[in-house]
Amino acid sequence: MATARKIPAPVVTAETRAFWDAARENRFVVPVCAACGRAHWYPRAICPFCDSGKVEWREASGQGTIYTFSVMRRVAEPYVIAHVTLAEGPTMLTNIVDCDFDKLSIGQAVALVFKESENGQPVPMFAPA
Ligand SMILES: [Zn+2]
Repeated sequence: MATARKIPAPVVTAETRAFWDAARENRFVVPVCAACGRAHWYPRAICPFCDSGKVEWREASGQGTIYTFSVMRRVAEPYVIAHVTLAEGPTMLTNIVDCDFDKLSIGQAVALVFKESENGQPVPMFAPA
């Protein structure tokens, strides 16, 4: 149940800086292509669907479903690594937190929670909705 695990600070790059800045304001944004309207993840300057450079950051719902997950038990503080498919379409590698790991299932609805990492940067994780 506890999530006492220390969360490593994320590596911030030019392509992800806007994402992490938004997270500090408790906003969850994803890159959306203004040309074709599709969201993608991880962040890229060029849309992976239509090659347009008109990629914008837009606020996302924070709703998603578990696509796949794995419980990491052979560590001091077990945790869950998962791919979560966002309501907006893309799938994100993340952690599932604040839950009984044994009751998780593929297809389960989850919702965004920001968790503070070691240097104070909030990182997006998900908990059962
Ligand atoms: Zn596009």
